[in-house]
Amino acid sequence: MRKKLSLAVPVYYEQEVILQFLKETKEVLDTLPVDYEYVFVDDGSKDKTVEIIKEQAKTNDKIKMVVLSYNHGKAFAATAAFTHASGDYILYMDPDLQDPPHEIPVFFEKIQQGYDLVWGIRREKKDKFINRLYSRVFWGTLNKYTGLEIPKGIAVMRMFTREFADNLLSYKETNRFVEGLFMKVGMNYTTIEIDQRERFAGVSKFNFKRKMQLAFDAIFDFSELPLKFAVRLGFFLILGGLVGLVALVIARLFFIDYQAGWPSLVALIVMGFGLQLFFLGIVSIYIGRMYRETKNRPLFSVKEYVNLGKKES
Ligand code: UDP
Ligand code: MG
Repeated sequence: MRKKLSLAVPVYYEQEVILQFLKETKEVLDTLPVDYEYVFVDDGSKDKTVEIIKEQAKTNDKIKMVVLSYNHGKAFAATAAFTHASGDYILYMDPDLQDPPHEIPVFFEKIQQGYDLVWGIRREKKDKFINRLYSRVFWGTLNKYTGLEIPKGIAVMRMFTREFADNLLSYKETNRFVEGLFMKVGMNYTTIEIDQRERFAGVSKFNFKRKMQLAFDAIFDFSELPLKFAVRLGFFLILGGLVGLVALVIARLFFIDYQAGWPSLVALIVMGFGLQLFFLGIVSIYIGRMYRETKNRPLFSVKEYVNLGKKES
């Protein structure tokens, strides 16, 4: 029996690229010995993205879509796509054509060799210097402190088996750093180098703020580094204070008859309060995240299904 490949594609304000994406991927997919489907997940776009995909879906039942009811963030859109993909293999890629469709056969060949996950690595990243620096610092720090060993220079484009997806989906956490989860599943994976192109059209949604959010999620969801940091710094401060105090007393008794000044005291008090608040803050972040997990809410809320045999409007 022919195997089936699902393309899991999160879309968010991508009206300029959808048609080109469909065209370029179709050309490649039609040459492969598989059935295939597109599972688009609209992450709350307010432009013509949904309209364009619906229009295409009318005449092509390979095109399926889940429309989320508001912007959930890419991690959740991707999770929704993996959930509704029905293929034996799933290809996760962005629609902006930065990851080139002509590489799909290479992924397909590799996955058939028995890997659970084939991960695309950017051969040469066509990116601004500042973005490259960010990537290096981000992934470097992450690997060092979480022990995840995520390969360097990973692209979004990756192919995995249905079993891998099921495994991945059994991680229900609502704080979702997807790349970390991919590594946590820890099945048999390999990497291949792929070219990285410029975005076909439209703009990147990952501005500085979103990138910082991602780094923040990664650190807080996959490590206890901030807590350990708090404990260590707190310990050294207590030690430092103690030594300072003893030194001051000894100095006053035996060496210098200095005039104790209140400004230094005020400064110390302010600093002390600041430190306490800071560490309280770190603890609160973890508690906040625990609170979010304990609510056990569904990972995404769906407004509409297209071509998925469910309630459709
Ligand atoms: N995306 C999403 N939800 C969001 C932001 C982005 O589903 O809240 C999708 C978007 O449609 C795109 C992908 O994430 O397909 C990657 O975004 P983008 O190309 O803007 O990021 P970059 O490639 O610049 O990192
Ligand atoms: Mg992109």
